[in-house]
Amino acid sequence: MSDCAIDCDKCFTCGGECCKSVAIKLEDPVDIDDYEDFKWYVFHPGLSVYLDTDDEWHVDVPIKCKHLGRNGKCKVYDDRPPVCRDYDVRECDEGDDSKVTLSTPEEVDSYIRKLKRAGKL
Ligand code: SF4
Ligand code: SF4
Repeated sequence: MSDCAIDCDKCFTCGGECCKSVAIKLEDPVDIDDYEDFKWYVFHPGLSVYLDTDDEWHVDVPIKCKHLGRNGKCKVYDDRPPVCRDYDVRECDEGDDSKVTLSTPEEVDSYIRKLKRAGKL
């Protein structure tokens, strides 16, 4: 992650963006109530819900890992957990892999209207 295993300049310049939030995967929404439930997350200041490039929905919790050093490198690199080891910097888009981001109830409503217009709800 912030000190990648391959020879890449990206990690040294981005400052460890992938270590500054936690993404929690959501069940695929199947009906309007599931989309309405997105509002519960965004009622909590700072949280947002996003659709990634694999068409999976997540909650983004913007909280920095305590092991991210000021220099943007991992302080426990040799002991970092599998979720960090398995992250492939070659597929990294420097902390933003979202196709859609919803941060307010109004944005959720607007997205629901868009789905209805498109006949997807
Ligand atoms: S966000 Fe990407 S470029 Fe930045 S530290 Fe993490 S893996 Fe490296
Ligand atoms: S343990 Fe290291 S690589 Fe993993 S999120 Fe924390 S700072 Fe980043």
